[in-house]
Amino acid sequence: SIALISLVDADRQWFKSRLGVDLAETPRDVAFCAHAILEPGAVMVVEDARQDARFSDNPLVRNAPHAQFYAGAPIVTNDGFALGTVCVIDRQPRQLSPDQRKSLKALADLVGTLMEHEKLSQEAAERNSAQAREQADIVSAMVNNALDLKSFVDTQYTYRAVNKAYSDYWQRDRKDIEGKTLTELLGKASFETLVKPYMDRAFAGETVHFETPFTFPGKGERHMEVSYLPALSRQGHILGVVVRAHDIQQRVEREKKLRETVAMLEHKTLEQERFIHIVSHDLREPINTINNFVSLLSGDNEPGLSSSGKRFLGFVAAGGERMKTLLDDLLEFLRLERHAVDKRSIDLAHLVAEVRDDLSASLASTGGRVEFGHLPMAYGDPSLLRIALQNLVSNGLKFRTEGIAPVVMISASIEADQLKIAIRDNGIGMADDQTDRIFEMFQRLHTRAAYAGTGLGLSITRRIAELHDGRITVTSAPAKGSCFTLALPVPSRNTEEKDGHEFL
Ligand code: ADP
Repeated sequence: SIALISLVDADRQWFKSRLGVDLAETPRDVAFCAHAILEPGAVMVVEDARQDARFSDNPLVRNAPHAQFYAGAPIVTNDGFALGTVCVIDRQPRQLSPDQRKSLKALADLVGTLMEHEKLSQEAAERNSAQAREQADIVSAMVNNALDLKSFVDTQYTYRAVNKAYSDYWQRDRKDIEGKTLTELLGKASFETLVKPYMDRAFAGETVHFETPFTFPGKGERHMEVSYLPALSRQGHILGVVVRAHDIQQRVEREKKLRETVAMLEHKTLEQERFIHIVSHDLREPINTINNFVSLLSGDNEPGLSSSGKRFLGFVAAGGERMKTLLDDLLEFLRLERHAVDKRSIDLAHLVAEVRDDLSASLASTGGRVEFGHLPMAYGDPSLLRIALQNLVSNGLKFRTEGIAPVVMISASIEADQLKIAIRDNGIGMADDQTDRIFEMFQRLHTRAAYAGTGLGLSITRRIAELHDGRITVTSAPAKGSCFTLALPVPSRNTEEKDGHEFL
């Protein structure tokens, strides 16, 4: 008359399912089942409890439900643990046939299997919901920890969700925005002109990108790059629009500055071009006139001049010549800025030989020499490097020690990824603290009376080194000669291949 599925824990048995009793549980020490589970593989049968020493005093036997017969089959897990029993109880003594025992055992096994199954599906459900929770946390972190403003707007133009950046920009609580319509937050005019036309296209399924200035409370006008991405349901219905807005104010300001700078540079370049034009034409013309007439006067007409007249004419001639060299050097310097650097592989020995030949007059008049041995290939703009070498070699010959024939030696070596060209002379040298100054425009260490020159040669040379991403340095000491080093980067293999030149 009683049937139970009873689960036994440390202190009690608890009826997971019951028939014929109202009790929900009993203490473990009165439980028949507590005995039955001690032998997980067997069915325990107590035919008459009153005759059984283990149970005759049991309150469940003496009092309600007045159990006399008990048969229990343990519920055993896959791991072999007996959790409780499926049991049948009667208020009168009974016996079980072997088939009935088997049936009871089969029932208990079925309960065991169902419980295992339940446990597995519960674990799976827990795992799934933990995964879902984690997934939700990740998605919300992605949305909320973004610098971009993000919101979801449904087809009624109502905010359904906004991220932190969005609410921060509007200086409103998220809860204060979610549920509101776009008109309520942005105002009718902004909504109608800045938002609705684009958003309607997104509702029609188009992904829309655009840039627009937008005024936010407290932040003022900011340029925003906005994307409207249509959000579709699994069935393909439009659910709303994901709005992503990126603040590009800084970029817009930088671009504006850049445009202004470019305009200013273009203006300056034009001015410079005009300046160079004036210098090279308008200034050259009067200088040429002076020089031409001076040479006329100093030719056949000179005898007609008084001795002081001749002396004065000498000054005019020298001044005119100096002005011409100065103008040439100045123009050379200015033109460097407009010169497109055309780098290629250069036979350095060939270039140095050309420079030496150009200076043959000066070599002949001083009895000087230009010496060089094997020189590697160089990589640079041939016409610029020629000017640089010409300046350095001619300085080596010019700043010579009285009474000693000038010798300029040129050598080159490759160190790390640099080609170092050394131009060494046996001339007057200079003090250590002067070696920086000489590369500045118009800086000279001597009077023109002592050594002719404009003070522009080394600044031109330094600019040429810079145009090659290189450097020029000097080591020198008075009366010990000077050594100028022109360091040029050696091109990487890639550059060479790209340029189609072979270096070294
Ligand atoms: P310039 O040769 O027309 O004077 P540079 O710019 O070529 O102008 O040189 C600047 C100054 O540096 C020279 O006036 C001279 O004082 C010094 N200098 C340049 N080269 C040498 C050298 N090889 N030996 C000694 N002094 C030099």
